[in-house]
Amino acid sequence: MKTALITGASKGIGKATALTLAKEGINCIINYAGDKEGAEQTVSEIKAIGAQAIAIRANIANKEEVRQMIEKVKETFPSIDILVNNAGITEDKTLWNMTSEQWQRVIDVNLNGAYYVTKEVIPLMSGPGRIVSISSIVGIVGNAGQTNYAASKAALIGFTKTLAKELAKKKITVNAVCPGFIETGMVENIPFIRKFIIKKMISLGRVGEPQDIANAVAFLCSEKARYITAETLQVNGGLNF
Ligand code: NDP
Repeated sequence: MKTALITGASKGIGKATALTLAKEGINCIINYAGDKEGAEQTVSEIKAIGAQAIAIRANIANKEEVRQMIEKVKETFPSIDILVNNAGITEDKTLWNMTSEQWQRVIDVNLNGAYYVTKEVIPLMSGPGRIVSISSIVGIVGNAGQTNYAASKAALIGFTKTLAKELAKKKITVNAVCPGFIETGMVENIPFIRKFIIKKMISLGRVGEPQDIANAVAFLCSEKARYITAETLQVNGGLNF
């Protein structure tokens, strides 16, 4: 059985991704930052499907916590086949109102976190393997009020393209998924009117569900995607931002 590590899988897109991989018979390591209850709920839903799962708390922005997480992983799973760099945060402000702490916190989780986790996981991947990082449409087209977030998500695309070249010889594919507007806790504080306007920009006429992204990630992690690497897959229902 294969093993996947999914960062930020206590809820939202990460949870949907873990459950989708588990349904394909993949054991899951559920990383979370603070929502222990959510992570334990994900674990029990995965076990009910018939796959193995463990939850490990680690702030991925903290290099030492990431190292300790991987030490705990090794106690249960000797190798990792799939890494999904999913955990992410927003702290939205126009650049002139954004403090350097707000800038740094978002870069630390969304970009440095993916770097710390990937660097620790690669030695556990013998290949063939899969690395999928969750970027964003905002990393491609930008969005007023999200310079920190857009910078982190655009950087993940460059990270992906470069790492794909470095890991090809180990038969590890590296891809990014760019969600559009997905109904999760991350977007719950966006005012109703703003959500209404965004919905009008989506060709398929509805906001995305976490499952829409999980399906794309599971595809990229599957044997069917064995010849896809360094790719950026947009999953946004035809959002014209
Ligand atoms: P949620 O807020 O629903 O979930 C975020 C997850 O990330 C939680 O499990 C949270 O853990 C975890 N997390 C946050 N900070 C850390 C940290 N420092 N260390 C470890 N885990 C952390 O967000 P979504 O499901 O919407 O987002 C998932 C990914 O998708 C993110 O990278 C986001 O940027 C991206 N995305 C989302 C879009 C959307 O419209 N929703 C659009 C485009 C991209 P805990 O609960 O324990 O705090």
